Amino acid sequence: MPILRLRDEGFRLIAWFMNPNIQPLAEYLRRREAARQACDGLGVDLVCDDAAWDITAWLRSVTGRDTKPDRCVFCCGSRLQAAFAKARGMGIPHVSSSLLYSRYQPHEMIAAEGARLGQAGSPSFVYRDFRRDWQEGFDRSRAMGLYRQAWCGCVYSEADRYAKRLAAPRGRQSSGAQILSGDAQFASSVFDAS
Ligand code: SF4
Repeated sequence: MPILRLRDEGFRLIAWFMNPNIQPLAEYLRRREAARQACDGLGVDLVCDDAAWDITAWLRSVTGRDTKPDRCVFCCGSRLQAAFAKARGMGIPHVSSSLLYSRYQPHEMIAAEGARLGQAGSPSFVYRDFRRDWQEGFDRSRAMGLYRQAWCGCVYSEADRYAKRLAAPRGRQSSGAQILSGDAQFASSVFDAS
């Protein structure tokens, strides 16, 4: 939805996928493929920063702040900072983020960090409250047959997602495959206005 909304406003867009917080690697690959599928469908170029995926480095970087909200503040803030650095390096004048679409991310913190980073000059930060497009985004992703994640990203969030199963009596555990809906946030994005 962020891509559609900003394109409607006249921005020319480049999507950037940089998510070392998506774990394990198989899940990262699934979401990267979904991002590619979505961008192909929307006719938007996608740049994937696979070199940034390093689970050891990421887990070390959250040591000492491994619980919410500190972990998430670091996680979102560091990806936003990386997006600004990438855009600056590419000579792109504006940055926004699909993190602003999520109902589960620290929205105010992301908006404030984007505003802070944008104050330094180019690139500027394009803030929009994409959360209002949540249902439409959900419906569109289903219609496009996109993979929908069951947990936010990191192994901590995956453990939170399935903690109840660990606690459940054996006989009540589900053994089948299941379809789970989740937050469709999959990318930090760099946007170019022309
Ligand atoms: S729960 Fe989500 S936002 Fe928080 S640290 Fe994990 S991946 Fe990042």
